[in-house]
Amino acid sequence: MTLLRSWVASANSGTTDFPLNNLPYGVFDAGAGPRMGVAIGDQILDLAAVDHRLDPELFAHPSWNAVMAAGPKVWAALRARLTELLSDEAHRASVEPHLLPQAGAAMLMPFTVTEYTDFYAGKNHAVNVGTMFRGAENALPPNWLSIPIGYNGRASSVVVSGTPVPRPWGQVKGPDEALPRLAPSARFDLELEMGAIVGQPSTGMVSVAEADAMIFGYVLLNDWSARDIQAWEYQPLGPFQSKATATTISPWIVTTAALEPFRVSTPDRERPLLPYLREPGPMLYDIALEVGLAPEGGAETVISRTNYREMYYSAAQQLAHHTSSGCAMRVGDLLGSGTISGTRPDSRGSLLELSWGGKEPLTLDTGETRTFLQDGDRLTLRGAAEGPGYRIGFGNCAGQILPAADLPAWAKE
Ligand code: CA
Repeated sequence: MTLLRSWVASANSGTTDFPLNNLPYGVFDAGAGPRMGVAIGDQILDLAAVDHRLDPELFAHPSWNAVMAAGPKVWAALRARLTELLSDEAHRASVEPHLLPQAGAAMLMPFTVTEYTDFYAGKNHAVNVGTMFRGAENALPPNWLSIPIGYNGRASSVVVSGTPVPRPWGQVKGPDEALPRLAPSARFDLELEMGAIVGQPSTGMVSVAEADAMIFGYVLLNDWSARDIQAWEYQPLGPFQSKATATTISPWIVTTAALEPFRVSTPDRERPLLPYLREPGPMLYDIALEVGLAPEGGAETVISRTNYREMYYSAAQQLAHHTSSGCAMRVGDLLGSGTISGTRPDSRGSLLELSWGGKEPLTLDTGETRTFLQDGDRLTLRGAAEGPGYRIGFGNCAGQILPAADLPAWAKE
């Protein structure tokens, strides 16, 4: 695959996140209310206005759930029609009036998140965290090489890029276990993840191949995490309030069709998987990822560079496992991959790992240091699959940390 050329000049730059090869889907507001759109170069094509030849009802409500529910034939028909409209000069006169500059549009949630599950499927991350808390000998829990571990999160906590993130209050361990405190999190962190969006429903158990076909697309995902709240609350039922403040996603859904040329296999198995979790083909993707941290008013430092292909389990394997109990999946289900860390110290996907539990502060380009996030810090995740002369980018997944809100009087001691 090489760069597909569009009559939208900015789509052919080779450096844009959004060439014709990509065609990611979002919801934007350029002053006329929320509308569904597709990104092309530095423009957005308004899909409620253009002649796409599909049922207008699919684009009547500003959310991609209806298109997802319509199924893979509609997904393919829309992509083929948009490719035709944006490449063939014959359509330019009728389509161009419905382009709007991205610079003048606010991006909104691209779909209604019906359910949200977060996994823990990156081996380097699991080994790093396990080494910190249990020692290198017992770094991986005994189940880890057999199960993509996950927990059920909160759909209500998922927000779109640009939404400010207030530092959470929470119950943390005190000097004595009988004396916990309610305090603003002092160890507030990011987690660099990818989110897979389930585009077709299921009942009963599905195979890994079926699960792969159910996934509509991917977004970047930052699973904000309060480490001090988590450390006190998580045993034995796992994370709860430590992960419930916010989870930020990038605003454009990059479809599996756009990512198709970038499929890669998961790493070699260190322990054979049960048959229901075996992949019939490559189901992971080669997507370069990075994290930028900018202190308030200061320049950004890239604090981590890694790749989605570092995952031990693909989203298809996670989804297949999710249905193994008979758990029904819905259109709009969001699956977080788990933190994506590489093997090098500068490829770790959380500050917990980058600062090794707060013991080794990072030095930013501004000269400031960080163990965990400070008020005013702006975090930006970026990602792209890189082909010859083009990139399938995701746009930014950004959020700024606000100071903790004032505690209401009834919550004070
Ligand atoms: Ca996570």
